[in-house]
Amino acid sequence: MKYRSTRGQVSGISFKDAVMMGLADDGGLLLPERIPTFSNDELHELAALPYAELAFRVISRFTDDIPAVDLKDLLNRSYAAFDHDQVTPVVSQDNVHILELFHGPTLAFKDVALQFLGNLFEYLLKERNQHMNIIGATSGDTGSAAIYGVRGKQNINIFILHPKGRVSPIQEMQMTTVTDSNVFNLAVEGTFDDAQSIVKEIFGDLEYKEKHSLGAVNSINWARVLAQVVYYFYACFQVQKETGCEEVEFSVPTGNFGDIFAGYVALRMGVPIRRLILATNANNILSRFVTRGDYSAAEVNHSLSPSMDIQVASNFERYLFYLYGEDSSRINSAMEMFRQTGRLEFSAEEIAKVQQTFAASSVDDAETLKTIETFYQQTGYLLDPHTAVGVEVGRRVRDESCPLICLATAHPAKFGDAVKQAIGLDPELPPAFQGIDKLEKRLQVLPAEIDQIKSYIDQHAL
Ligand SMILES: *Cc1c(COP(=O)(O)O)cnc(C)c1O
Repeated sequence: MKYRSTRGQVSGISFKDAVMMGLADDGGLLLPERIPTFSNDELHELAALPYAELAFRVISRFTDDIPAVDLKDLLNRSYAAFDHDQVTPVVSQDNVHILELFHGPTLAFKDVALQFLGNLFEYLLKERNQHMNIIGATSGDTGSAAIYGVRGKQNINIFILHPKGRVSPIQEMQMTTVTDSNVFNLAVEGTFDDAQSIVKEIFGDLEYKEKHSLGAVNSINWARVLAQVVYYFYACFQVQKETGCEEVEFSVPTGNFGDIFAGYVALRMGVPIRRLILATNANNILSRFVTRGDYSAAEVNHSLSPSMDIQVASNFERYLFYLYGEDSSRINSAMEMFRQTGRLEFSAEEIAKVQQTFAASSVDDAETLKTIETFYQQTGYLLDPHTAVGVEVGRRVRDESCPLICLATAHPAKFGDAVKQAIGLDPELPPAFQGIDKLEKRLQVLPAEIDQIKSYIDQHAL
């Protein structure tokens, strides 16, 4: 399988090169030249497989340049790091099916992709006799998942900037108690936006980027999307077995369009998904797009589901490419239009096409808290605030005639403050994290100044 960019200036590159490139060199996003499909007979056979084997069968359709034994080994190691033997189990509560994506080492769904990406990076760097220095800024979830993805890996150092004192205590501890020698936590004296803009500026310095072989782990890497496609297969099979229904709907809390785009790929591959339900918090650009074709950026609102506080969805361009009939010139003019005006416009025909595949709605913080509370009262099951957004939107717009699968993107203990606001109780930490507050921490406090950050990286880069 070869890969090409949505913007049309990069094409014919291998899977391995697509993974190493991350963002396409022309500024676009990489996609496979075609989306492979499974027949009904093949799907039937896949339904019997355990998670890691299913992952191999799905992912290997997109990779022809990694030997099967190696890919199997990478996937087995990635999913052995999860604390549940089904990796992403489905539990049924009150007429919805909750797909628990938080059994990885940092209790959020980003582990599903970043455990695999960490192993894949290590494999490719070794093969190419190269090294990489990963740099990223985090408001919490991505940074911890990335650190756990590459801790202890050869030929990789990772530098994660977080705003000092402004990430949740559990997220801070998850990052700073990782004391492997290749992990560098930089607590920046500033806001998340300060940290993020420093990272952007560092990547913009091409000479510096080259000198240190800088790498990124943000959600535009194709390997991340690909790893997430697998659980749509897995969950659909579980729910088909449980309910006897053929088709399912998924409700996906999203900000970057990453997770839900993986669902779109699964649908195109043959998973019987009636509709994908897109759920947003008050940052609702994506749900406005689906419900009325209004894709216009607004100010970022800080919400109780902070991992979805996003206004410019980095993976949206991938879907747009298909909506525009795989026409790169239309993508280029749309992106230019968005850059100039902060909005995109769609024809009635296009909106109708979007609504054949997607439904959407958004919920605010008060509704999020109410959902956590009532769901807990009715079932005894605790939702994290991101998952609650998906559950509430899913219930509002679902098609009652088919089962609804809601993606649970984080463990409630990871966002304990919001949960406490909702039900007055602190959620219990899973056993692996009890006592985390007593572990040794390693971090470096630095001012929010690019020169000081760069000089720290100069001293500690591979
Ligand atoms: C990152 C994240 C999301 C949103 O994921 P997208 O890539 O924007 O779809 C949702 N919930 C949690 C807990 C997250 O960490």
